[in-house]
Amino acid sequence: MSIAQHLSEIKDELPSKVVLVAVSKTKPIEDLEQAYAAGQRVFGENKVQEMCEKHEGLPKDIQWHMIGHVQRNKIKYMAPFVSLIHGVDSIKTLKEVDKQGLKNKRIIPVLLQVKIAKEDTKFGIEPSELSDFLEEVVNLELKNVEIQGFMGMASNQTKQEVVREEFSILKTLFNKYQNQFSNFHTLSMGMSGDYKIAIEEGSTMVRVGSAIFGTRNYAI
Ligand SMILES: *Cc1c(COP(=O)(O)O)cnc(C)c1O
Repeated sequence: MSIAQHLSEIKDELPSKVVLVAVSKTKPIEDLEQAYAAGQRVFGENKVQEMCEKHEGLPKDIQWHMIGHVQRNKIKYMAPFVSLIHGVDSIKTLKEVDKQGLKNKRIIPVLLQVKIAKEDTKFGIEPSELSDFLEEVVNLELKNVEIQGFMGMASNQTKQEVVREEFSILKTLFNKYQNQFSNFHTLSMGMSGDYKIAIEEGSTMVRVGSAIFGTRNYAI
């Protein structure tokens, strides 16, 4: 099946209010062009340099989402154009995004990454620390960054009930803190293997890569 066919199959199943981020990391520009021709406008990348190169080479109505864990010193390169940064989990990073937003005279939307997986390899704010974290954020009154929601990754495993439980915990946290921010509407959870469960548990944005573009070859 072609990229366009994969995309249309996935879109047919998505509720209209769920945003599909096409995760194009490691994939060549030609693959993104195929998705673009099929109507896709939101793309997710996990490396700043790769995202900047693709942004340069592709139409300017694409919305670029940073879904990876970014180094603070690289935020400046994407600050002029990035539409949403998904993986923010420290105050230092938030402050740097704010600084770069000010320099670029814009408000940069971000999602805070919350740790829901049991594995300790995953990034994110511990749910038990979320309350203090958010209080600190509110007190900082950052003007050039806007917290629009949460992002989470479930455990990388096949037991669907574990995955569902983790998504459900994030949805509960999302509901709990929603009123602390004025424009807090996005719950980014779900990837190729688990986006259907994520949607059932309340996801508003799914990040789907291999189900659209095929498996990635990290050896490149
Ligand atoms: C790579 C990646 C995805 C997409 O993964 P697939 O399993 O290929 O759909 C989603 N979210 C993040 C944070 C990723 O790094």
